[in-house]
Amino acid sequence: LARLRNLETASWYAQPTFCAEESGEVAPINAPQDLRIEIGSRRDSTDEEVADAIRRAEAVQQGWNALGGPRRAVLLEEAANQFEAHSDELLSLCIREAGKTLPDAVLELREAVDFLRFYAGEARNLFGGSFALAGPTGEENRLTLAGRGVFACISPWNFPLAIFIGPAAAALAAGNTVVAKPAEQTPLVAALAIRLCHQAGIPQDVLQLLPGAGDVGAAITSDPRIAGVAFTGSSDTARAINRNLAARDGAIATFIAETGGQNAMIVDSSALPEQVTRDVVASAFQSAGQRCSALRVLYLQDDIADDMLAMIRGAFDALDIGDPADLATDVGPVIDDDAKAALERHVARRKKAGAPVWRRKLARELANGTFVAPTIIEIGSILDLKRENFGPVLHVVRYRSSELGQVVEDINATGYGLTLGLHSRIEGVREFVEARAKVGNFYVNRNQIGAVVESQPFGGEGLSGTGPKAGGPHYVARFATERVTC
Ligand code: ADP
Repeated sequence: LARLRNLETASWYAQPTFCAEESGEVAPINAPQDLRIEIGSRRDSTDEEVADAIRRAEAVQQGWNALGGPRRAVLLEEAANQFEAHSDELLSLCIREAGKTLPDAVLELREAVDFLRFYAGEARNLFGGSFALAGPTGEENRLTLAGRGVFACISPWNFPLAIFIGPAAAALAAGNTVVAKPAEQTPLVAALAIRLCHQAGIPQDVLQLLPGAGDVGAAITSDPRIAGVAFTGSSDTARAINRNLAARDGAIATFIAETGGQNAMIVDSSALPEQVTRDVVASAFQSAGQRCSALRVLYLQDDIADDMLAMIRGAFDALDIGDPADLATDVGPVIDDDAKAALERHVARRKKAGAPVWRRKLARELANGTFVAPTIIEIGSILDLKRENFGPVLHVVRYRSSELGQVVEDINATGYGLTLGLHSRIEGVREFVEARAKVGNFYVNRNQIGAVVESQPFGGEGLSGTGPKAGGPHYVARFATERVTC
Protein backbone atom coordinates (compact mmCIF):
# COMPACT_ATOMS: atom_id res chain seq x y z
CA LEU A 1 0.00 0.00 0.00
CA ALA A 2 2.83 2.37 0.85
CA ARG A 3 4.32 1.76 -2.58
CA LEU A 4 1.03 2.57 -4.26
CA ARG A 5 0.68 5.78 -2.30
CA ASN A 6 4.17 7.02 -3.03
CA LEU A 7 4.19 6.36 -6.70
CA GLU A 8 3.57 9.92 -7.81
CA THR A 9 7.31 10.31 -7.98
CA ALA A 10 7.93 6.97 -9.67
CA SER A 11 9.17 6.62 -13.19
CA TRP A 12 5.85 5.31 -14.49
CA TYR A 13 4.58 8.85 -14.34
CA ALA A 14 7.12 10.06 -16.82
CA GLN A 15 5.50 11.17 -20.02
CA PRO A 16 4.91 8.21 -22.29
CA THR A 17 6.65 8.74 -25.60
CA PHE A 18 4.46 6.76 -27.92
CA CYS A 19 4.16 9.31 -30.67
CA ALA A 20 6.90 9.40 -33.23
CA GLU A 21 7.50 13.14 -33.47
CA GLU A 22 7.84 15.71 -30.76
CA SER A 23 5.18 17.99 -32.10
CA GLY A 24 1.62 18.58 -30.99
CA GLU A 25 0.21 20.19 -27.90
CA VAL A 26 1.29 19.01 -24.45
CA ALA A 27 -1.29 19.06 -21.65
CA PRO A 28 -0.55 18.27 -18.00
CA ILE A 29 -2.33 15.38 -16.27
CA ASN A 30 -3.25 16.25 -12.71
CA ALA A 31 -4.40 13.90 -9.96
CA PRO A 32 -8.16 14.36 -9.37
CA GLN A 33 -7.64 13.96 -5.64
CA ASP A 34 -5.33 16.98 -5.55
CA LEU A 35 -5.02 19.04 -8.70
CA ARG A 36 -1.71 20.49 -7.50
CA ILE A 37 -0.08 17.10 -8.15
CA GLU A 38 1.00 16.79 -11.76
CA ILE A 39 1.50 13.12 -12.51
CA GLY A 40 2.49 13.38 -16.16
CA SER A 41 1.44 14.92 -19.41
CA ARG A 42 -0.30 14.12 -22.62
CA ARG A 43 0.77 15.05 -26.09
CA ASP A 44 -2.06 14.95 -28.59
CA SER A 45 -1.57 13.00 -31.80
CA THR A 46 -1.34 15.16 -34.89
CA ASP A 47 -3.37 14.54 -38.06
CA GLU A 48 -0.24 13.16 -39.72
CA GLU A 49 0.34 10.73 -36.87
CA VAL A 50 -3.27 9.56 -37.09
CA ALA A 51 -2.98 8.99 -40.83
CA ASP A 52 0.38 7.26 -40.47
CA ALA A 53 -0.83 4.98 -37.66
CA ILE A 54 -3.82 3.88 -39.72
CA ARG A 55 -1.60 3.28 -42.74
CA ARG A 56 0.74 1.08 -40.71
CA ALA A 57 -2.17 -0.77 -39.08
CA GLU A 58 -3.65 -1.44 -42.49
CA ALA A 59 -0.35 -2.73 -43.84
CA VAL A 60 -0.03 -5.45 -41.19
CA GLN A 61 -3.68 -6.47 -40.85
CA GLN A 62 -3.64 -9.37 -43.29
CA GLY A 63 -0.58 -10.84 -41.67
CA TRP A 64 -2.15 -10.53 -38.21
CA ASN A 65 -5.32 -12.19 -39.47
CA ALA A 66 -3.34 -14.96 -41.16
CA LEU A 67 -1.54 -15.69 -37.90
CA GLY A 68 -4.74 -17.44 -36.81
CA GLY A 69 -6.81 -17.31 -33.64
CA PRO A 70 -4.80 -19.78 -31.52
CA ARG A 71 -1.55 -17.85 -31.99
CA ARG A 72 -3.23 -14.53 -31.35
CA ALA A 73 -4.70 -16.10 -28.20
CA VAL A 74 -1.23 -16.87 -26.88
CA LEU A 75 -0.23 -13.21 -27.28
CA LEU A 76 -3.41 -11.93 -25.60
CA GLU A 77 -2.86 -14.33 -22.72
CA GLU A 78 0.71 -13.15 -22.38
CA ALA A 79 -0.62 -9.58 -22.26
CA ALA A 80 -2.87 -10.66 -19.37
CA ASN A 81 0.22 -12.12 -17.65
CA GLN A 82 2.06 -8.84 -18.14
CA PHE A 83 -0.85 -6.91 -16.63
CA GLU A 84 -0.73 -9.18 -13.59
CA ALA A 85 3.04 -8.88 -13.30
CA HIS A 86 2.79 -5.08 -13.41
CA SER A 87 -0.29 -4.75 -11.24
CA ASP A 88 1.31 -2.21 -8.88
CA GLU A 89 1.96 0.29 -11.63
CA LEU A 90 -1.43 -0.21 -13.26
CA LEU A 91 -3.27 0.09 -9.95
CA SER A 92 -1.36 3.15 -8.95
CA LEU A 93 -2.18 4.88 -12.23
CA CYS A 94 -5.88 3.96 -11.93
CA ILE A 95 -5.83 5.56 -8.48
CA ARG A 96 -3.78 8.66 -9.23
CA GLU A 97 -4.84 9.44 -12.78
CA ALA A 98 -8.51 8.40 -12.63
CA GLY A 99 -9.13 8.92 -8.90
CA LYS A 100 -10.27 5.31 -8.42
CA THR A 101 -10.39 3.92 -4.90
CA LEU A 102 -8.01 1.05 -4.27
CA PRO A 103 -10.76 -1.64 -4.27
CA ASP A 104 -12.19 -0.17 -7.49
CA ALA A 105 -8.76 -0.18 -9.08
CA VAL A 106 -8.28 -3.83 -8.10
CA LEU A 107 -11.66 -4.75 -9.62
CA GLU A 108 -10.81 -2.85 -12.76
CA LEU A 109 -7.46 -4.58 -13.19
CA ARG A 110 -9.21 -7.92 -12.65
CA GLU A 111 -11.76 -7.02 -15.33
CA ALA A 112 -9.06 -5.99 -17.80
CA VAL A 113 -7.24 -9.29 -17.28
CA ASP A 114 -10.52 -11.21 -17.56
CA PHE A 115 -11.30 -9.48 -20.87
CA LEU A 116 -7.88 -10.38 -22.27
CA ARG A 117 -8.23 -14.02 -21.24
CA PHE A 118 -11.88 -14.30 -22.32
CA TYR A 119 -11.25 -12.88 -25.79
CA ALA A 120 -8.13 -15.03 -26.09
CA GLY A 121 -10.45 -18.00 -25.58
CA GLU A 122 -12.78 -16.65 -28.25
CA ALA A 123 -9.82 -16.29 -30.64
CA ARG A 124 -8.98 -19.93 -30.08
CA ASN A 125 -12.57 -21.17 -30.42
CA LEU A 126 -13.82 -19.06 -33.31
CA PHE A 127 -10.77 -18.18 -35.38
CA GLY A 128 -8.79 -21.41 -35.41
CA GLY A 129 -10.23 -22.74 -38.66
CA SER A 130 -13.54 -22.87 -40.50
CA PHE A 131 -16.91 -24.34 -39.56
CA ALA A 132 -18.81 -26.88 -41.63
CA LEU A 133 -22.22 -25.75 -42.89
CA ALA A 134 -24.86 -27.99 -44.42
CA GLY A 135 -25.24 -27.13 -48.14
CA PRO A 136 -28.59 -27.15 -49.96
CA THR A 137 -27.88 -30.31 -51.98
CA GLY A 138 -25.91 -32.08 -49.35
CA GLU A 139 -22.49 -30.75 -50.32
CA GLU A 140 -20.32 -29.31 -47.60
CA ASN A 141 -20.11 -25.54 -47.27
CA ARG A 142 -17.66 -23.83 -44.98
CA LEU A 143 -17.91 -20.69 -42.90
CA THR A 144 -14.75 -18.80 -41.94
CA LEU A 145 -14.56 -15.83 -39.60
CA ALA A 146 -11.89 -13.20 -40.28
CA GLY A 147 -10.90 -9.71 -39.18
CA ARG A 148 -12.55 -6.77 -40.92
CA GLY A 149 -9.49 -4.52 -41.16
CA VAL A 150 -8.38 -1.64 -38.91
CA PHE A 151 -10.60 -1.05 -35.88
CA ALA A 152 -10.66 2.22 -33.96
CA CYS A 153 -11.24 1.71 -30.23
CA ILE A 154 -12.29 4.95 -28.54
CA SER A 155 -12.70 4.75 -24.81
CA PRO A 156 -13.79 6.78 -21.78
CA TRP A 157 -12.01 7.68 -18.55
CA ASN A 158 -14.31 5.87 -16.12
CA PHE A 159 -12.74 2.47 -16.83
CA PRO A 160 -9.44 3.68 -18.23
CA LEU A 161 -7.93 0.21 -18.21
CA ALA A 162 -10.76 -2.33 -18.63
CA ILE A 163 -12.81 -0.48 -21.25
CA PHE A 164 -9.64 0.71 -22.94
CA ILE A 165 -8.23 -2.77 -23.40
CA GLY A 166 -11.44 -4.89 -23.54
CA PRO A 167 -12.76 -3.80 -26.96
CA ALA A 168 -9.19 -3.66 -28.33
CA ALA A 169 -8.63 -7.25 -27.19
CA ALA A 170 -11.88 -8.36 -28.86
CA ALA A 171 -10.87 -6.62 -32.09
CA LEU A 172 -7.40 -8.17 -32.00
CA ALA A 173 -8.79 -11.62 -31.20
CA ALA A 174 -10.93 -11.43 -34.34
CA GLY A 175 -7.95 -10.62 -36.56
CA ASN A 176 -8.22 -6.84 -36.80
CA THR A 177 -5.45 -4.41 -36.14
CA VAL A 178 -6.25 -1.57 -33.73
CA VAL A 179 -5.69 2.13 -33.24
CA ALA A 180 -6.75 2.93 -29.68
CA LYS A 181 -7.65 6.40 -28.45
CA PRO A 182 -7.98 6.66 -24.70
CA ALA A 183 -9.92 9.47 -23.03
CA GLU A 184 -7.98 12.72 -22.77
CA GLN A 185 -8.16 12.49 -18.97
CA THR A 186 -6.49 9.06 -18.71
CA PRO A 187 -3.73 8.58 -21.31
CA LEU A 188 -1.05 7.40 -18.86
CA VAL A 189 -2.64 4.16 -17.74
CA ALA A 190 -3.53 3.51 -21.40
CA ALA A 191 0.07 4.09 -22.45
CA LEU A 192 1.27 1.60 -19.86
CA ALA A 193 -1.34 -0.94 -20.97
CA ILE A 194 -0.17 -0.64 -24.58
CA ARG A 195 3.46 -0.92 -23.54
CA LEU A 196 2.67 -4.15 -21.67
CA CYS A 197 0.81 -5.55 -24.70
CA HIS A 198 3.87 -4.83 -26.85
CA GLN A 199 6.09 -6.40 -24.21
CA ALA A 200 3.85 -9.48 -24.48
CA GLY A 201 4.69 -9.75 -28.17
CA ILE A 202 1.75 -8.03 -29.87
CA PRO A 203 3.51 -6.16 -32.68
CA GLN A 204 3.76 -2.36 -32.45
CA ASP A 205 1.87 -1.71 -35.69
CA VAL A 206 -0.89 -4.18 -34.80
CA LEU A 207 -1.88 -2.21 -31.70
CA GLN A 208 -1.16 1.52 -31.64
CA LEU A 209 -1.92 4.28 -29.18
CA LEU A 210 -3.26 7.62 -30.42
CA PRO A 211 -3.61 9.92 -27.42
CA GLY A 212 -5.67 13.07 -27.71
CA ALA A 213 -9.06 14.64 -27.16
CA GLY A 214 -12.27 14.50 -29.21
CA ASP A 215 -10.69 16.06 -32.30
CA VAL A 216 -8.24 13.15 -32.53
CA GLY A 217 -11.21 10.76 -32.23
CA ALA A 218 -12.94 12.69 -35.00
CA ALA A 219 -9.85 12.50 -37.23
CA ILE A 220 -9.61 8.73 -36.70
CA THR A 221 -13.29 8.07 -37.41
CA SER A 222 -13.27 10.29 -40.52
CA ASP A 223 -10.59 8.16 -42.14
CA PRO A 224 -12.05 5.95 -44.89
CA ARG A 225 -9.58 3.15 -44.06
CA ILE A 226 -11.21 2.48 -40.67
CA ALA A 227 -13.29 -0.71 -41.01
CA GLY A 228 -15.03 -0.42 -37.66
CA VAL A 229 -15.30 1.59 -34.46
CA ALA A 230 -15.79 0.28 -30.95
CA PHE A 231 -16.80 3.25 -28.85
CA THR A 232 -17.74 3.77 -25.21
CA GLY A 233 -18.77 7.23 -24.04
CA SER A 234 -21.69 9.61 -24.28
CA SER A 235 -24.69 9.20 -26.57
CA ASP A 236 -23.93 12.58 -28.18
CA THR A 237 -20.41 11.52 -29.12
CA ALA A 238 -21.76 8.23 -30.49
CA ARG A 239 -24.02 10.26 -32.79
CA ALA A 240 -21.10 12.45 -33.87
CA ILE A 241 -19.02 9.37 -34.70
CA ASN A 242 -21.91 7.85 -36.62
CA ARG A 243 -22.15 11.03 -38.70
CA ASN A 244 -18.40 10.96 -39.38
CA LEU A 245 -18.54 7.34 -40.47
CA ALA A 246 -21.52 8.00 -42.72
CA ALA A 247 -19.85 10.99 -44.38
CA ARG A 248 -16.81 9.00 -45.53
CA ASP A 249 -16.33 7.61 -48.97
CA GLY A 250 -15.41 3.98 -49.06
CA ALA A 251 -16.51 0.94 -47.10
CA ILE A 252 -19.47 0.98 -44.71
CA ALA A 253 -18.03 0.72 -41.24
CA THR A 254 -19.19 -1.44 -38.35
CA PHE A 255 -20.16 0.66 -35.35
CA ILE A 256 -20.31 -0.78 -31.85
CA ALA A 257 -21.33 1.75 -29.20
CA GLU A 258 -21.80 1.56 -25.45
CA THR A 259 -23.19 4.86 -24.28
CA GLY A 260 -25.04 6.50 -21.40
CA GLY A 261 -27.72 5.44 -18.98
CA GLN A 262 -30.41 6.75 -16.66
CA ASN A 263 -30.39 3.74 -14.40
CA ALA A 264 -33.24 3.15 -11.98
CA MET A 265 -34.00 0.75 -9.14
CA ILE A 266 -37.50 -0.11 -7.97
CA VAL A 267 -37.97 -1.08 -4.32
CA ASP A 268 -41.36 -2.28 -3.10
CA SER A 269 -42.69 -2.93 0.39
CA SER A 270 -41.66 -6.61 0.34
CA ALA A 271 -37.95 -5.81 0.00
CA LEU A 272 -35.48 -6.57 2.79
CA PRO A 273 -34.48 -3.14 4.20
CA GLU A 274 -30.90 -3.97 5.24
CA GLN A 275 -30.18 -5.50 1.87
CA VAL A 276 -31.75 -2.57 0.03
CA THR A 277 -29.69 -0.11 2.07
CA ARG A 278 -26.43 -1.86 1.30
CA ASP A 279 -27.25 -2.31 -2.39
CA VAL A 280 -28.54 1.23 -2.94
CA VAL A 281 -25.53 2.87 -1.33
CA ALA A 282 -23.08 0.66 -3.23
CA SER A 283 -24.92 1.06 -6.56
CA ALA A 284 -25.18 4.84 -6.30
CA PHE A 285 -21.95 5.86 -4.58
CA GLN A 286 -19.28 3.24 -5.32
CA SER A 287 -16.76 4.66 -7.80
CA ALA A 288 -18.19 8.09 -6.86
CA GLY A 289 -21.19 7.17 -9.03
CA GLN A 290 -19.01 7.10 -12.13
CA ARG A 291 -19.92 3.64 -13.37
CA CYS A 292 -22.02 3.23 -16.51
CA SER A 293 -24.28 0.93 -14.48
CA ALA A 294 -24.57 3.25 -11.44
CA LEU A 295 -27.94 3.85 -9.85
CA ARG A 296 -29.32 7.34 -10.58
CA VAL A 297 -33.02 7.11 -9.68
CA LEU A 298 -34.39 5.08 -6.80
CA TYR A 299 -38.14 4.39 -6.87
CA LEU A 300 -39.42 3.70 -3.33
CA GLN A 301 -42.94 2.44 -2.69
CA ASP A 302 -44.59 5.22 -0.68
CA ASP A 303 -45.57 3.22 2.43
CA ILE A 304 -41.95 2.24 3.12
CA ALA A 305 -40.29 5.33 1.66
CA ASP A 306 -39.70 7.31 4.89
CA ASP A 307 -38.27 4.35 6.81
CA MET A 308 -36.20 3.21 3.85
CA LEU A 309 -34.83 6.69 3.26
CA ALA A 310 -33.89 7.01 6.91
CA MET A 311 -31.88 3.79 6.71
CA ILE A 312 -30.25 4.74 3.43
CA ARG A 313 -29.32 8.13 4.85
CA GLY A 314 -27.77 6.41 7.86
CA ALA A 315 -25.45 4.41 5.60
CA PHE A 316 -24.90 7.45 3.37
CA ASP A 317 -23.82 9.51 6.41
CA ALA A 318 -21.22 6.84 7.21
CA LEU A 319 -19.54 6.93 3.79
CA ASP A 320 -15.86 7.74 4.02
CA ILE A 321 -14.90 10.39 1.47
CA GLY A 322 -11.26 11.09 0.75
CA ASP A 323 -7.90 9.83 -0.51
CA PRO A 324 -8.62 7.08 -3.04
CA ALA A 325 -5.45 5.21 -2.09
CA ASP A 326 -6.66 4.92 1.51
CA LEU A 327 -8.23 1.52 2.12
CA ALA A 328 -10.96 3.07 4.29
CA THR A 329 -12.21 5.36 1.54
CA ASP A 330 -15.62 4.64 0.01
CA VAL A 331 -15.94 7.68 -2.25
CA GLY A 332 -13.07 9.35 -4.07
CA PRO A 333 -13.05 12.39 -6.36
CA VAL A 334 -14.85 12.77 -9.68
CA ILE A 335 -12.69 12.84 -12.76
CA ASP A 336 -12.11 16.58 -13.28
CA ASP A 337 -13.24 20.14 -12.64
CA ASP A 338 -15.74 20.10 -15.52
CA ALA A 339 -17.47 17.01 -14.15
CA LYS A 340 -17.54 18.55 -10.68
CA ALA A 341 -18.97 21.84 -11.95
CA ALA A 342 -21.73 20.09 -13.94
CA LEU A 343 -22.78 18.07 -10.89
CA GLU A 344 -22.73 21.14 -8.63
CA ARG A 345 -24.90 23.05 -11.13
CA HIS A 346 -27.39 20.19 -11.19
CA VAL A 347 -27.65 20.06 -7.39
CA ALA A 348 -27.97 23.86 -7.16
CA ARG A 349 -30.78 23.91 -9.74
CA ARG A 350 -32.72 21.21 -7.88
CA LYS A 351 -32.24 23.01 -4.58
CA LYS A 352 -33.45 26.26 -6.12
CA ALA A 353 -36.52 24.47 -7.45
CA GLY A 354 -37.32 23.49 -3.85
CA ALA A 355 -36.45 19.77 -3.96
CA PRO A 356 -35.48 18.12 -0.65
CA VAL A 357 -31.71 17.69 -0.80
CA TRP A 358 -29.32 15.91 1.58
CA ARG A 359 -25.61 16.46 1.15
CA ARG A 360 -22.54 15.25 2.93
CA LYS A 361 -20.04 17.83 4.10
CA LEU A 362 -16.57 17.62 2.64
CA ALA A 363 -13.47 17.85 4.83
CA ARG A 364 -11.39 20.99 4.27
CA GLU A 365 -8.33 19.08 3.15
CA LEU A 366 -10.23 17.86 0.08
CA ALA A 367 -10.60 21.38 -1.31
CA ASN A 368 -7.74 20.98 -3.80
CA GLY A 369 -9.28 17.94 -5.40
CA THR A 370 -12.34 17.38 -7.57
CA PHE A 371 -14.50 15.96 -4.80
CA VAL A 372 -18.28 16.22 -4.99
CA ALA A 373 -20.20 15.77 -1.74
CA PRO A 374 -22.42 12.69 -2.04
CA THR A 375 -25.99 13.90 -2.47
CA ILE A 376 -29.55 12.55 -2.29
CA ILE A 377 -32.32 14.54 -3.99
CA GLU A 378 -36.05 13.84 -4.04
CA ILE A 379 -37.72 14.40 -7.39
CA GLY A 380 -41.16 13.69 -8.88
CA SER A 381 -40.21 11.38 -11.75
CA ILE A 382 -37.22 10.08 -13.66
CA LEU A 383 -38.49 12.18 -16.56
CA ASP A 384 -37.66 15.35 -14.59
CA LEU A 385 -33.99 14.59 -15.34
CA LYS A 386 -32.88 15.82 -18.73
CA ARG A 387 -29.41 14.32 -18.70
CA GLU A 388 -27.26 11.68 -17.07
CA ASN A 389 -25.63 13.03 -13.90
CA PHE A 390 -22.40 11.08 -13.80
CA GLY A 391 -21.34 11.26 -10.17
CA PRO A 392 -22.31 10.62 -6.53
CA VAL A 393 -25.85 12.00 -6.81
CA LEU A 394 -28.84 9.78 -6.12
CA HIS A 395 -32.41 10.82 -6.95
CA VAL A 396 -35.36 9.39 -5.09
CA VAL A 397 -38.96 9.13 -6.34
CA ARG A 398 -41.93 7.85 -4.33
CA TYR A 399 -44.55 5.68 -6.07
CA ARG A 400 -47.75 3.84 -5.15
CA SER A 401 -47.90 0.09 -5.80
CA SER A 402 -50.77 0.64 -8.26
CA GLU A 403 -48.39 2.79 -10.33
CA LEU A 404 -45.77 0.11 -11.02
CA GLY A 405 -46.71 -0.15 -14.69
CA GLN A 406 -46.40 3.63 -15.07
CA VAL A 407 -43.03 3.61 -13.30
CA VAL A 408 -41.62 1.11 -15.81
CA GLU A 409 -43.13 3.11 -18.67
CA ASP A 410 -41.46 6.29 -17.39
CA ILE A 411 -38.12 4.52 -17.05
CA ASN A 412 -38.46 3.27 -20.64
CA ALA A 413 -39.51 6.75 -21.78
CA THR A 414 -36.08 8.17 -20.89
CA GLY A 415 -34.91 6.40 -24.05
CA TYR A 416 -31.95 4.89 -22.21
CA GLY A 417 -31.83 1.18 -21.57
CA LEU A 418 -28.72 0.17 -19.70
CA THR A 419 -29.39 -1.18 -16.19
CA LEU A 420 -32.44 -1.55 -13.96
CA GLY A 421 -32.60 -2.86 -10.40
CA LEU A 422 -35.54 -4.40 -8.58
CA HIS A 423 -35.95 -5.33 -4.93
CA SER A 424 -39.15 -7.31 -4.48
CA ARG A 425 -40.19 -10.63 -2.98
CA ILE A 426 -43.75 -10.50 -4.28
CA GLU A 427 -44.62 -13.27 -6.70
CA GLY A 428 -45.04 -12.05 -10.25
CA VAL A 429 -43.45 -8.61 -9.81
CA ARG A 430 -40.11 -9.67 -11.23
CA GLU A 431 -41.80 -11.19 -14.30
CA PHE A 432 -44.03 -8.11 -14.70
CA VAL A 433 -41.06 -5.74 -14.72
CA GLU A 434 -38.82 -8.04 -16.75
CA ALA A 435 -41.45 -8.33 -19.50
CA ARG A 436 -41.79 -4.55 -19.85
CA ALA A 437 -38.42 -3.00 -19.07
CA LYS A 438 -36.27 -2.20 -22.08
CA VAL A 439 -32.85 -2.61 -20.52
CA GLY A 440 -29.74 -4.62 -21.21
CA ASN A 441 -28.95 -5.65 -17.65
CA PHE A 442 -31.68 -6.32 -15.08
CA TYR A 443 -30.51 -6.86 -11.48
CA VAL A 444 -32.94 -8.52 -9.05
CA ASN A 445 -32.53 -8.40 -5.26
CA ARG A 446 -28.87 -7.41 -5.48
CA ASN A 447 -26.76 -4.37 -6.26
CA GLN A 448 -26.53 -3.14 -9.82
CA ILE A 449 -22.81 -3.07 -10.17
CA GLY A 450 -21.12 -4.29 -13.29
CA ALA A 451 -21.05 -7.78 -14.71
CA VAL A 452 -18.94 -10.92 -14.70
CA VAL A 453 -16.97 -10.92 -17.94
CA GLU A 454 -17.31 -14.62 -18.78
CA SER A 455 -20.97 -15.10 -17.95
CA GLN A 456 -22.84 -11.79 -17.91
CA PRO A 457 -22.68 -9.78 -21.13
CA PHE A 458 -22.97 -6.08 -20.29
CA GLY A 459 -24.50 -3.30 -22.35
CA GLY A 460 -27.67 -1.48 -23.25
CA GLU A 461 -30.10 -0.55 -25.95
CA GLY A 462 -31.77 2.61 -27.23
CA LEU A 463 -29.78 5.69 -26.21
CA SER A 464 -27.49 3.34 -24.26
CA GLY A 465 -25.87 1.64 -27.20
CA THR A 466 -25.94 -0.64 -30.19
CA GLY A 467 -25.23 -3.97 -28.50
CA PRO A 468 -24.14 -6.77 -28.59
CA LYS A 469 -22.71 -6.68 -25.16
CA ALA A 470 -19.15 -6.68 -23.90
CA GLY A 471 -18.04 -10.05 -22.63
CA GLY A 472 -20.98 -11.90 -24.13
CA PRO A 473 -20.99 -14.79 -26.59
CA HIS A 474 -21.76 -12.56 -29.59
CA TYR A 475 -19.45 -9.62 -28.98
CA VAL A 476 -16.31 -10.82 -30.74
CA ALA A 477 -18.33 -11.88 -33.78
CA ARG A 478 -19.26 -8.22 -34.38
CA PHE A 479 -15.58 -7.51 -34.98
CA ALA A 480 -15.38 -10.22 -37.63
CA THR A 481 -16.56 -10.74 -41.14
CA GLU A 482 -18.09 -14.05 -42.23
CA ARG A 483 -16.96 -15.76 -45.40
CA VAL A 484 -18.87 -18.67 -46.88
CA THR A 485 -17.20 -21.10 -49.27
CA CYS A 486 -19.60 -23.30 -51.19
P1 ADP B 1 -17.53 11.20 -21.45
O1 ADP B 1 -18.79 11.93 -21.17
O2 ADP B 1 -17.42 9.86 -20.87
O3 ADP B 1 -16.30 12.02 -21.29
P2 ADP B 1 -17.25 11.39 -24.31
O4 ADP B 1 -18.21 10.82 -25.27
O5 ADP B 1 -17.06 12.86 -24.28
O6 ADP B 1 -17.74 10.81 -22.94
O7 ADP B 1 -15.82 10.75 -24.45
C1 ADP B 1 -15.58 9.38 -24.71
C2 ADP B 1 -14.45 9.24 -25.69
O8 ADP B 1 -14.86 9.79 -26.95
C3 ADP B 1 -13.19 10.00 -25.29
O9 ADP B 1 -12.07 9.22 -25.66
C4 ADP B 1 -13.28 11.27 -26.12
O10 ADP B 1 -12.05 11.88 -26.38
C5 ADP B 1 -13.88 10.72 -27.41
N1 ADP B 1 -14.54 11.73 -28.26
C6 ADP B 1 -15.12 12.89 -27.90
N2 ADP B 1 -15.63 13.54 -28.96
C7 ADP B 1 -15.37 12.75 -30.05
C8 ADP B 1 -15.67 12.84 -31.46
N3 ADP B 1 -16.34 13.86 -31.96
N4 ADP B 1 -15.26 11.84 -32.27
C9 ADP B 1 -14.62 10.76 -31.76
N5 ADP B 1 -14.31 10.62 -30.45
C10 ADP B 1 -14.68 11.60 -29.60
